Amino acid sequence: MKTRAFDNLTTDALEQQLVELESFVSQARARQVELVREAEHRQAPLSDGCRSLGEWTAGRLDIAPETAKELVAATRMLADQPELEEILTAGRSSFDRILATAHLTGAGASPQQVELSSGLDIPAVRRLTAQHRRITRHQEYRIFAERFLMLQPTLDCSAVRVWGQLPGPDGDLVEQALHTRGDQFPLLPDGTRRSLGQRNADALVSIAQDSLTTSSDDATPSRPVLSVFTNGDLAATSHGQAGSITSTGIQVGMQTIEEILCGGSVEHTVITAGQPIVMGRTTRVIPPRLKRFILYRDGACCADGCTSRYRLEPHHRVPWSQGGQTNPDNLVTLCWYHHHVVIHQMGYQIKPKSTPQRLRFTPPGHDPP
Ligand SMILES: [Zn+2]
Ligand SMILES: [Zn+2]
Repeated sequence: MKTRAFDNLTTDALEQQLVELESFVSQARARQVELVREAEHRQAPLSDGCRSLGEWTAGRLDIAPETAKELVAATRMLADQPELEEILTAGRSSFDRILATAHLTGAGASPQQVELSSGLDIPAVRRLTAQHRRITRHQEYRIFAERFLMLQPTLDCSAVRVWGQLPGPDGDLVEQALHTRGDQFPLLPDGTRRSLGQRNADALVSIAQDSLTTSSDDATPSRPVLSVFTNGDLAATSHGQAGSITSTGIQVGMQTIEEILCGGSVEHTVITAGQPIVMGRTTRVIPPRLKRFILYRDGACCADGCTSRYRLEPHHRVPWSQGGQTNPDNLVTLCWYHHHVVIHQMGYQIKPKSTPQRLRFTPPGHDPP
């Protein structure tokens, strides 16, 4: 058997090596700080056609813009605080610690406060810095004026990009709301959680959905919150892979159409030979009385272990596209998360043999046993 390279390394020795290496990193950073400063002195970025020292540094070192920005900030801040640069050159503190301390001093903290900050971890030093940093009314107006939130369809119109900037407290509030909502969602059927980014995205969609419908378990929302149009001819020749878009032109695939046919708050219009045929509400969607009965019969989400009553929706165990009927035997109640996210968007399937009130799932890509 091959011996592993670390078999003789104790955990103490491992830790010591890591710390020693960090000291080398500090020394290397200190030297880079000196050299970047010299490059600026020689106006190297300008003569190379770069707009800024940061841009030049990022390009020459092939590092991320934010890393370059930190390095450039260090060259300037440490020029005013030579005692910190000495510590870095000697490798006695990490680069991050030196930067955090330099920012704290730069924000106007007293020498005693800076001294005390050595006992804090780096996030705490940053918080302390934020407390000291002055912000004028004028700056506050500017921060608020620069707020924005944009939604833009991707080139192929299959997704929408969201980005923006909020004033700090508003951003905090939005983040808290997303985390609170995201934490209410159950685990995935395999017991794992989705990534933070995915939970935030699900939370945002569910909050938006709530704001468009009055009651969270309203069996018959008064109006659809979204309209999907299907060109029947295109859909027929492409097995449903083409032909469906929302009123704003966003492309919709079979997964979403199947969810619509389960009877959510989406209106679906099929157009054949130029004539609209309203589907769902009038023909395929579960009649409100039946929907109320299914929700009453099941009481909560039927996914095994899930007790959520958030936005309960009936789901066709055998989908319409596979000949499933709208009758009580083929309908089960699921919470929004299990219905929208787990089944219709992630593609989990209900195990055919699972008990109606304790549904188990097969991950996407596996044939149900
Ligand atoms: Zn469904
Ligand atoms: Zn559920």
